[in-house]
Amino acid sequence: MNSMKKIKLTDNRIIDVPACTGCTMVELNRAGQLPMAPIWSGKYCWALQDLETPMPGFYVISPYRHIFSITDLSPDEYDEYNQLILMTRRGLGDVLGIRRAHIYQEEKPSSHLHTWILPIWDANESIRISKNNINDYMARYTTDTHGRKMIQCADLMRAYLIKNMAR
Ligand SMILES: [Zn+2]
Repeated sequence: MNSMKKIKLTDNRIIDVPACTGCTMVELNRAGQLPMAPIWSGKYCWALQDLETPMPGFYVISPYRHIFSITDLSPDEYDEYNQLILMTRRGLGDVLGIRRAHIYQEEKPSSHLHTWILPIWDANESIRISKNNINDYMARYTTDTHGRKMIQCADLMRAYLIKNMAR
C-alpha cells in the first residue's frame, strides 16, 4: 500500500505531498501558503528557502515546469536557471558572508529538476556533507533556534536578487 508522503514545513505545518515535492511547492506558492515568500520568482525558474529545513541561507532553485534534467530546459530557461544559481551563490557571499557552499543537482527517477545550495556557515569547518552526515548537519538548525535568522537571510537575499538578477 502506498501511503501519501508527508513533509513538515519550516513553520511546523505538516502537509501532504501527493506526487512531486517540486510541483507541490509550486502549488503552495500559487495558493500563498508557503512558509515564506520565494527569494526570487523568475519567468521560468524560482528560488526559495528549503521548505523542510530552517537552515538560514539554504536555497532550492527549480524550474516551475516538471522536468527531469537540465537537458530538458530550453535555451532561455537554461540561461535563467544558471543565472539564478550564480546570483544566489554570489548573494550568499555578498550579503550573508558565507564563504563556502555545497551545490547539489541530482537526477532521480520522476524527480523535478532542482539545485540545492547548501551553505557551510563555518567556512573553516572540515566537513563534506554527504548522504551519511546530512541529517546530522540539518539537525543543527531548528525553527526555534534559527527560524528568525532564516527569515532575515531570505529578506536580504530577496533584496539582493531584485537588484542583481537581469529581468
Ligand atoms: Zn514536479
